[in-house]
Amino acid sequence: MIIDNILEFVGGTPLIKVKNNKMGAANVYVKLEEYNPGGSIKTRIAFQMILDAEKKGILERNSGQVIIEPTGGNTGIGLAIAGAALGYNVVLVTPDNYSEEKKDVLKAFGAKVILSDHTKGNDSHVQKTNEIVDENSNYIYLNQFNNISNPEAHYFQTGEEIISDFVQYQNVVDAFVAGIGSGGTLMGVGKKLRTSFSEMNIVGVQPTGCDTLNEEFIPHKIQGIGAVLTSFVDTKQIDKMVSISYEEALYWMRYMAREMGVLIGISAGANIAASMKLAEEMGGNQNIVTVAPDSGRSYIDLFITDNHFEKEKSTSIV
Ligand code: PMP
Repeated sequence: MIIDNILEFVGGTPLIKVKNNKMGAANVYVKLEEYNPGGSIKTRIAFQMILDAEKKGILERNSGQVIIEPTGGNTGIGLAIAGAALGYNVVLVTPDNYSEEKKDVLKAFGAKVILSDHTKGNDSHVQKTNEIVDENSNYIYLNQFNNISNPEAHYFQTGEEIISDFVQYQNVVDAFVAGIGSGGTLMGVGKKLRTSFSEMNIVGVQPTGCDTLNEEFIPHKIQGIGAVLTSFVDTKQIDKMVSISYEEALYWMRYMAREMGVLIGISAGANIAASMKLAEEMGGNQNIVTVAPDSGRSYIDLFITDNHFEKEKSTSIV
């Protein structure tokens, strides 16, 4: 494959069937999103948000406009890549206790990192972003948590890819399982799959102790998911929530590496743990699809010890 722009390589990620020794359980397939540029599912939405903003006339390439977003996580990397590839300056706002390593990844793609004072609260980076946007009319805040392009990227791409993979083998999807960060993945993919598989269940994943649908949140260590409900999370469409502990998520991320040679992140471990529980309830001949939002490379020490979050001071950023 010869391409002109790295963004042509977004999407088209593989679905792998998870080896399961439990007799009579449903099949579990995981879509490996680390194979997107930037190593995560979030490059899909970063690219989509920019393209849609261009179509609406909000953004114009090489115009001196600056894309700003309060994130240092996967969305930040996705925006930094899309900005570099399309000719935008990108500013990412992170709390000042955010890990140096993660900030360096953003800077490597040419993004500027602005720090907010973390003592001002959990959303100090969001506050700081709003202040900057108010003072600078050429700064465009795409806001993944309130931008319909986020679930639409998953509706039109991630979901569509899963449908064509299953239809090709004349198979159906009986459940789609995903954790909720912004909710873009669960709602976008879930709604799209239901257009082809009308009986399919949409199943959310939450860290044990959190009650996502009622927005009850307790601090937890499964980075990327939690109790933020956005305008596009339609709770009536969610058939079931499955609670997963940090230890269960760790078990499955290590299992995938050691038994299958697939290095996935902690939220992916949680998605697979939830899918495996569901697989026993649902039984054979049924198919469950879930996602691995990113690679285990960002959490590499978790494969050896579980003290990753001791040094990771800021875990709530998506
Ligand atoms: N896992 C990881 C590692 C993530 O970065 C995110 C994004 N916050 C999610 C899961 C949740 O995805 P979404 O925002 O689409 O709900």
